[in-house]
Amino acid sequence: MEKTLLQLDQLSKHYGKLKAVDQLSISIKKGNIYGLLGPNGSGKSTTLGMILNVINPTSGSFQWYEGTHTTHQALKKIGAIIERPNFYPYMTALQNLTLICKIKQCSTENIQEKLELVGLWDRRHSKFKTYSLGMKQRLAIAAALVNNPELLILDEPTNGLDPEGIHQIRKLIFKIAEGGTTILLASHLLDEVEKVCNQVIVLKNGVKFYQGPVDAISQTFGFFELSSKNLLKLKAFLKDIPQIQSIREEKGSLIVSLNAEMEAEELSLKLAAANIFVTHMVKKMPSLEDQFLTLTQS
Ligand code: ADP
Ligand code: MG
Repeated sequence: MEKTLLQLDQLSKHYGKLKAVDQLSISIKKGNIYGLLGPNGSGKSTTLGMILNVINPTSGSFQWYEGTHTTHQALKKIGAIIERPNFYPYMTALQNLTLICKIKQCSTENIQEKLELVGLWDRRHSKFKTYSLGMKQRLAIAAALVNNPELLILDEPTNGLDPEGIHQIRKLIFKIAEGGTTILLASHLLDEVEKVCNQVIVLKNGVKFYQGPVDAISQTFGFFELSSKNLLKLKAFLKDIPQIQSIREEKGSLIVSLNAEMEAEELSLKLAAANIFVTHMVKKMPSLEDQFLTLTQS
């Protein structure tokens, strides 16, 4: 069993009537890359704020290291970036990181390694204000790593970056994870979580919708698009097929979603045997984007 680094138990934050986070229970186990995925306003930042002791929970609790550490002790073993990076503009990257080591009371010996990791060692003597947004974000990641944290928490680390900057941050997250650091990444981008994470926690309106492997989100049996001159007869027949989960009419076609494996050939044989002939039949898989929307809507 992997070690549980962090356990949330029915954690809630209410702002008046608004339940920003609602009875959230999750466990963060060592060695994984977790995506905390949800649309804007779903409670991701509030959740991170609570575990980092900057937001007081309304109710519920969380435990670090199976209860062996107080939050204060645990925070020394983790790295987090939950706001836009904030460094001294007229100081160089190296000076800024040296200062951060003083504040964090950790040794400066890791600075070179971390700056190399994020690709900024060559620019260590440049003033922070001369950095691009992507470089600033990478410096923030280096700063979060100077104490060799066991868990790295990132809140929307690619927001506002250009495609190249986004690519670099994602590559960097992989490298950090490969080095054995556990990562908790909040993002509203399904695509990002899919690319970067192996575990996903889906939030909607502060409520957990799903937690599990990223691959399982995309596990689906797909759907058929069918048309026929006699839609009513077709529909009536389809209703009795056990692999069919739901039937919806759309622009004169039927959208037939499956809850088990069924190939087009199998369905057309069944239809032909019942003397039903279709004018159109395609089997499709929903895009991940569609699935995320299904997961977080209604
Ligand atoms: P996310 O990070 O997923 O975009 P947040 O955690 O920032 O979501 O916000 C969750 C909900 O809580 C939103 O509806 C937001 O407007 C609300 N909220 C966040 N902070 C406050 C606050 N300080 N006062 C009132 N409402 C807040
Ligand atoms: Mg947020």
